[in-house]
Amino acid sequence: MKRKQHLIVALMFLIFINFISSQITISLIALPTAMTIFPDVDAGTKYHRNIFTHSIIIWIFVFIFNPMLLTALVCLGVGVHCLCDISLKTKGGFYTIKWYRKGFNYKWSTIWLLLQFIGGSVILGVWLLWI
Ligand SMILES: [Zn+2]
Repeated sequence: MKRKQHLIVALMFLIFINFISSQITISLIALPTAMTIFPDVDAGTKYHRNIFTHSIIIWIFVFIFNPMLLTALVCLGVGVHCLCDISLKTKGGFYTIKWYRKGFNYKWSTIWLLLQFIGGSVILGVWLLWI
């Protein structure tokens, strides 16, 4: 997906969440929406879609040390980016998630991307329900 499409999808998603939870205000949505383009920071390099940029691993650590609604929303924003990157057509090369030397195949890349979205949703859910 292109950068602009990532931003539009994430913005629509977060505005939808804004209607569900009164804690999430429109002003809180701005940073997570901007962060949805972060995973593509490695675009154009040999390791585009690597395991650290296209995951919420970094953001989980940020959340653990800084448990705020804003960091939970950033986790979800990056998760939404990963969800947008899922393709139902079988692809190799560019599509796959790269990590040390090798990369995941199509199937595991899709599962990985889906898990990032689920993880981001769970973190936000945990925040909204228990913290
Ligand atoms: Zn991406």
